[in-house]
Amino acid sequence: MSGNKSRVQAISQITNRQPMVVKKPEPLSSIWACDVFNLAKMEEALSKTAFKSMKNTVQTGAPLDPATADVVAAAMKDWAMSKGVKFFSHIFYPMTNITAEKHDGFIITNSDGNAITEFSGSLLIKGEPDGSSFPNGSIRMTNAARGYTAWDPTSPVYIMQTDNGSTLMIPSVFMSWTGEALDKKIPLLRSINAMNKAGNRVLTLMGEKDIAPLNSSCGAEQEYFLVDSNFANLRPDLMLAGRTLFGAPPAKGQQFDDHYFGAIPARVQVFMQDFEDQLYRLGIPAKTHHNEVAPGQFEIAPYFESANIAADHQQLMMTLMKSTAKKHGFLCLLHEKPFAGVNGSGKHVNWSVGNATQGNLLDPGSTPHDNLNFLLFCGAVIRGVHCFGPLLRAVIASASNDHRLGANEAPPAILSVYLGDQLEKVFQDIKDGKVATSTKGGVMDLGLSQILHFERDPGDRNRTSPFAFTGNRFEFRAVGSSQSVSGPLVAMNTMLADSLNWIADKLEAKLGSGVDLATAVVSTLKELMDEHGNAVFGGDGYSSEWHRMAVEERGLRNIPTAADALPAFREASVKKLFDDTGVLSPVELESRFEVYAEQYVLTIEVEAKLVVDMAKTSIYPAAIKYLNSLAKANVAMKQMGITLADTTAKLVAAEADAMMTEVSKLSAALERHDFATTEEHMQFCAKEIRGLMDKIRLHADKLETEISDELWPLPKYQEMLFIK
Ligand code: ADP
Ligand code: MG
Repeated sequence: MSGNKSRVQAISQITNRQPMVVKKPEPLSSIWACDVFNLAKMEEALSKTAFKSMKNTVQTGAPLDPATADVVAAAMKDWAMSKGVKFFSHIFYPMTNITAEKHDGFIITNSDGNAITEFSGSLLIKGEPDGSSFPNGSIRMTNAARGYTAWDPTSPVYIMQTDNGSTLMIPSVFMSWTGEALDKKIPLLRSINAMNKAGNRVLTLMGEKDIAPLNSSCGAEQEYFLVDSNFANLRPDLMLAGRTLFGAPPAKGQQFDDHYFGAIPARVQVFMQDFEDQLYRLGIPAKTHHNEVAPGQFEIAPYFESANIAADHQQLMMTLMKSTAKKHGFLCLLHEKPFAGVNGSGKHVNWSVGNATQGNLLDPGSTPHDNLNFLLFCGAVIRGVHCFGPLLRAVIASASNDHRLGANEAPPAILSVYLGDQLEKVFQDIKDGKVATSTKGGVMDLGLSQILHFERDPGDRNRTSPFAFTGNRFEFRAVGSSQSVSGPLVAMNTMLADSLNWIADKLEAKLGSGVDLATAVVSTLKELMDEHGNAVFGGDGYSSEWHRMAVEERGLRNIPTAADALPAFREASVKKLFDDTGVLSPVELESRFEVYAEQYVLTIEVEAKLVVDMAKTSIYPAAIKYLNSLAKANVAMKQMGITLADTTAKLVAAEADAMMTEVSKLSAALERHDFATTEEHMQFCAKEIRGLMDKIRLHADKLETEISDELWPLPKYQEMLFIK
């Protein structure tokens, strides 16, 4: 079909579509976690002793003895098979932002040729996907490509139901034969460990006696777009790159803010219900959903969970969102910037740290002593952001997130901390030496006018800060919508571990020289603020004044693109951070740089090839057709003695020509392969390739606004954003 025929057909298919049959909603109690083999189900299925040792493993990560593993595996298999499952798979999280799985049947045949089933502890614990084509950043030579997956018993197994069958999924880590982490789960587990150890040191020095293991919590708000598949299928860029590489802005965009928190379109509501029922079956606590700022944009946020589980659930959510959307005739876009000029999508990672005995350590608590713990942990975060801002920037760096960061819709590419007026003043007072401590009648007096208590402002907090304190947690707002939350969580936990160790060293020295506890804490915090207070910023993060001040006066770094950001993985301070805390060895860290850099380059190259292809095969031909019809009209009019103005023809011809000149340059640029370093290659992509893509787009978008709608082949922004 040529011209706009396919668009017209898509619109008619959408308007005439039969609505999805709305299933009668099932009561939460009958579906909640029904597909998860959780502790409650284990308790039913296992003997008392087996359950006890399994529970200990789930809660502490302690290894499971082989005999118990066999018993647990058998119980798992029986449970799964009773629900019709015939296959199992270790699911793991390679260094890309996706998940990987290799399915195996429970079935084996015996010598009589009868089908029997088998699932032993060793099969549960260890899998051996070949895995040679997963990115490993030179850790494994291809001739030693073996990697293996190992069950993470702290994250429950579950049944993934699809229309094509059901599979028992076993959350796993993925490592090389030589034991190096090839995934996003191992570093996360290690970072929790490191943070636990360091936090324990600080709490012990604070005189806490009963200290349960510390963990971090994560609640991630996920933004996404839904576009009808009839349109998406006509856009190679949406299908292959997840974003539009062309598209003139519509007359009406998001300027009225009439979509934000508006009534959810009926068809989307049906999708959400279906999607959320699946989440509930998997024990994922979906809590909030609403329209987002841009037309066609929505958000879902589950209730927060411990970091490791939250990270697994986040991956599962992204997978299910896409597959469920497809069933409902939508393409779900998790890309950070699917439509230029329209707000993009982020993933706010809400993060806190706590344990069963001291509670949430980022909550001020209700006694001066709790306040001190809180101030120390909060101070540790401030120091972390100051020392490791470039690392935080690097873990959210991707070709797609580059379109959001630095634009005035998402937090800037300068990492700072927003504390809110009240808390900022407390830290400022500490810095200025205004906080005096004393002990009166055994009660600690911090010299603060009252016990710290922060109102949780539900409204618009500082939207311009990349890293904001929100009453009892921090919200890392610069994370991209398509990213795994694991990288950000690893960075936050690890920088916190480092800062808590720094604090513990200071406290140990001060307490050793006879200073009382409250004074030691306040003077440590004063030192911390003197050295690291520059990271605290409560103003407008979008303003040019901040961009100047942050760099010139505060010594913070503005890191605009992923090409500038990723080399942070190679900085000595970052290497030392991960090595000292045991979270990533230098080899593992280097492999991450290589994998992420490669992904960056590949993403931009794929987009560039699409730009060349679409410009040449769709847009230029449309321009030529239009010119042709203008020329014909001109001749015909002349015969009638009427002169037709030639402005449009001239403009279209000039734009089409100019576009093709840039297309040739881009094709040539894509041929370049002689880069001395990966860094140089990334910079070339960031500047040269992206620069040419932008130029081509300008011409193409201009053509879209000039050429007859009847000839335009690609669904337009207003169609994709507004027709549901
Ligand atoms: P917002 O106003 O930002 O929409 P919400 O109350 O919807 O705030 O919370 C956003 C996310 O933060 C949710 O996933 C929520 O569960 C999570 N969250 C709340 N408290 C904590 C906490 N202490 N630690 C981590 N995440 C939390
Ligand atoms: Mg929020």
